[in-house]
Amino acid sequence: MPESIIIIGSGPAAWTCALYASRANLNPLVYEGAISEENRLRGTLPLGQLNSTTDVENYPGFANGITGPDLVEAMRQQAVRFGTRVVTEDIVKIDMSRRPFTMKDSAGNSASAQAIVIATGASANYLGLESEEKFKNHGVSACAVCDGALPRFRKQPVVVVGGGDSAAEEAIHLTKFASSVYVVHRRDKLRASKIMSDRLLAIANVTPVWNSVVEEVLGNPELGVTGIRVRNVITNEKSTLPAHGMFVAIGHTPNTGFLEGQLKLDPQGFIALKDPFRTLTSVEGVFAAGDVADPTYKQAITAAGMGCKAALDAERWLARENIH
Ligand code: FAD
Ligand code: NAP
Repeated sequence: MPESIIIIGSGPAAWTCALYASRANLNPLVYEGAISEENRLRGTLPLGQLNSTTDVENYPGFANGITGPDLVEAMRQQAVRFGTRVVTEDIVKIDMSRRPFTMKDSAGNSASAQAIVIATGASANYLGLESEEKFKNHGVSACAVCDGALPRFRKQPVVVVGGGDSAAEEAIHLTKFASSVYVVHRRDKLRASKIMSDRLLAIANVTPVWNSVVEEVLGNPELGVTGIRVRNVITNEKSTLPAHGMFVAIGHTPNTGFLEGQLKLDPQGFIALKDPFRTLTSVEGVFAAGDVADPTYKQAITAAGMGCKAALDAERWLARENIH
């Protein structure tokens, strides 16, 4: 028997969708992603992006804030409490050409469903340098919260690349462990919100390196990263920052690879919604929610809101199709 609804993903969108779907007696099955080294490096372990951050201060309902991992774990538990079933594997292949839809997971097992919600979020971008690839796990990371406390970074200078809220947050977190934190940004102004920018730039051991791009990660197999060569994009001057680590925080790309072109994407690679206020995609019976379908807001609260909408859209669609 096919499932009524399968939800693929593991962030606020997936768990909110699962919560609503389970309370609507749809008996949802969630594929929350696999615990693998590949997912660790891409920043796509189960529980999603919030699991890689510290305090979340802008999710309503928590007057004194809550940590990202606590918030998303509570969302998961709330969905499970109402009967959501969870498989800790990735969906690696999916056939949307006929219903019920069929799919394969990373353990090689198959599943089928009448309706699907894609809530696979986004994964960390890297600069794409050969030297960056070489030093992944040896000083190059895309998650300060996961790796910042490692001995190799303690009381040592480190570099954060990027100028958005993630870069600000990663850099602030690293100031607790590193001796100094260089923030290398390609412009002379941060993109981060004012509150985060002000907080970051007020910290004594933070040094912004404006108008600069990373050209090479320097190091050797014994010590890992030892320095970061940067170039000023205005003067073309090159210099080397002494650093034992480089934390890349230059945004995320929607996780749509496993869809293999079966859903319409927008020009930036996000799943295209048929109507911006709904969660319907180009394939009937397939819905999308959260960062994977949101080029604009990309917040925990908006992802959760879209997860709720996807559950309601799927529930109405299943009822209309007379599928129970
Ligand atoms: P995500 O959180 O992106 O999770 C998706 C998950 O789905 C993946 O991690 C993976 O486990 C799973 N998945 C992916 N592919 C598959 C597959 N093929 N099969 C099965 N499972 C799969 N927002 C705020 O509002 N406030 C903040 O303070 C805040 N801080 C942030 C700090 C950092 C460092 C980062 C990176 C983001 C932060 N954000 C914050 C943004 C927020 O985390 C995201 O907007 C939100 O997590 C998006 O949720 P999502 O449900 O779309 O999916
Ligand atoms: P982002 O806002 O897209 O910022 C990415 C940053 O990386 C930008 O400063 C960008 O530079 C830079 N960048 C991109 N590609 C680059 C490259 N190839 N080389 C060098 N620099 C590059 O991404 P984000 O910071 O991950 O934030 C994503 C979303 O999550 C946002 O909506 C954000 O508000 C949210 N978020 C919120 C919080 C919070 O509320 N506390 C925390 C984290 C994230 P330019 O500025 O020049 O484009």
